[in-house]
Amino acid sequence: MSMLITETAPPAPQARPRTEALLPPAIILLVFAMVVIALGGFAYVGGQQNALNTLRSQSEAMREATGALARTDASAAHVISGDRAAMSEFFRNAETLRELRTTTFDVIGGVTPALDTLLKDWGEATTLAVDGHPDTARQVLVDRRTSVTLDTVADAAAGAVANAEAQFGQHEQRIQIFTLAVLLLQVLSGTLAIAAMFFAFRSSAREANGRSAALRSADTSRGQVARLFEMADVLQSATDYGDANQVLKATAADLLPGFGGALYVFNNSRDRLVLSTSWGHEGQVHESIPPDQCWALKRGKAHLNRAAGSKLCCEHHHGEGTVLEIPMIARGEIMGLFQLFADGEDAEARLEGVTGLASAIADGMSLALANMGLREKLRNQALRDPLTGLYNRRYMEDCLQRFVRLADRENREVSVVMVDLDHFKKLNDEHGHAFGDAVLRDAAMTIVSGLRETDIVCRYGGEELVVILPDCNLDRAADKAEALRLRIEALSQTHGAAISASFGVAAVPYTSSGVSDLLASADGALYRAKQSGRNQVVAAATRPFHLDRLEDALERPQHLVAAE
Ligand code: GH3
Ligand code: MG
Ligand code: MG
Repeated sequence: MSMLITETAPPAPQARPRTEALLPPAIILLVFAMVVIALGGFAYVGGQQNALNTLRSQSEAMREATGALARTDASAAHVISGDRAAMSEFFRNAETLRELRTTTFDVIGGVTPALDTLLKDWGEATTLAVDGHPDTARQVLVDRRTSVTLDTVADAAAGAVANAEAQFGQHEQRIQIFTLAVLLLQVLSGTLAIAAMFFAFRSSAREANGRSAALRSADTSRGQVARLFEMADVLQSATDYGDANQVLKATAADLLPGFGGALYVFNNSRDRLVLSTSWGHEGQVHESIPPDQCWALKRGKAHLNRAAGSKLCCEHHHGEGTVLEIPMIARGEIMGLFQLFADGEDAEARLEGVTGLASAIADGMSLALANMGLREKLRNQALRDPLTGLYNRRYMEDCLQRFVRLADRENREVSVVMVDLDHFKKLNDEHGHAFGDAVLRDAAMTIVSGLRETDIVCRYGGEELVVILPDCNLDRAADKAEALRLRIEALSQTHGAAISASFGVAAVPYTSSGVSDLLASADGALYRAKQSGRNQVVAAATRPFHLDRLEDALERPQHLVAAE
């Protein structure tokens, strides 16, 4: 059975695209980046803030040092100018400077020796002034150029303050820029993470949809497979095309609702496909289709004949509807053609959607048709003679039994004609056995074609044939035998040799009472025909009238009574 494709089947869920598969790690990476940026930002800004605080306290200290220098200078000047009371003030200020020496002046670098010299000079000068030598004190300060040293230290301290203030600005600017950069990076990575999450969510929603659609499709396919198995199972019991057609229609109604359909099978001579059955769209159905006009049969593949007819179309197609045609092939042999019709603008797409399913149905049906053909062939082989194609003797005897019993019960008549070809041995001897076979076959065909379909012709044995003529009285049987005799005699011309046959006719109830003496009577009549010179018809003698038939005879149809 071919692969199924459900009509509404969505595409099977595909493997996740590469980019979608990268979304979850991208989200993790972005969140990680956000955390790292935040922590790094905190650490950096914290460091900058600390550096700023240090600079601030150093600057404060430097300012204080500058103030202390000025105050010490002023208090020393007071002491030297004779204000002894300012001495304690001078000591306090000098002490402050000493304290600032390591914490502050050391930081400026290279200025501490000058500070030490300054403190020393001021110390000596104030001591001299307090001891009553103010002029010497002043001279000491002048000699040692104390004012220049003071300017050096004061300038260095002022420079350090200016430097620190300049660095404040730099640090504050750096903190601002970095904070802004961290914020931007946070916003960017946050946005990217949200976008990635959105796409990941959308992708998994799509995947979930695909998965549930695939499950639905699998359910539908399971149902279709079960229905196809059921069809195959029921078709096993189909004995003829009528049965098979019923099963096909029921299956198509279940599995292909909304579509019309038709089934064509080959005629006996296999030169035409004749309509076996159809449903819906009757207007598009043909009585028969020549196989050489059908692309599906020529290519051995499903073919779509479109309504517009713009593409390749079968010659038999009307061009009005859209028709899917599927060749039915079993055991390498084309068994027939399955057509599916659809209406509407989407007819083409709908038919394309069910091609797999329709092919599976056609396959199942082809097998059934092939099996029926095989069964028919086997039955024929059991019933028919292979050389002439006539029924064999056993079948003839069964038939005769049946017909005679029926005739007896229903007061009807049955005639039998026994035929024997004349001098057939001589014909074989003179022209060969194959010639004899051909004559025998032609004689058989001539007899069959000269009779009704309900008449039974069989090969009794050798060159002897028996014809059963139901519902035929003795006279009419003799007439028919005479007609057959003439037809066989006419074969002489075709074959160029003398061909003839002798005929013995008998009938129930006229010459015989039952099967047992019917054939014997016909054989007796045939014997007399041979004795009388061959190529003639002889009827068996009618038997004496029997009382048990009297009542029947009175009720018998007029023509029969007349014949008697
Ligand atoms: P008669 O007119 O008395 O019937 O003479 P006849 O030769 O036909 O009869 P006979 O019974 O002597 O011979 C029958 C011959 O038919 C003998 C046999 O070889 C031939 N015959 C029987 N069956 C076949 C067959 O299937 N094919 C051929 N070619 N010949 C057959
Ligand atoms: Mg003969
Ligand atoms: Mg014979």
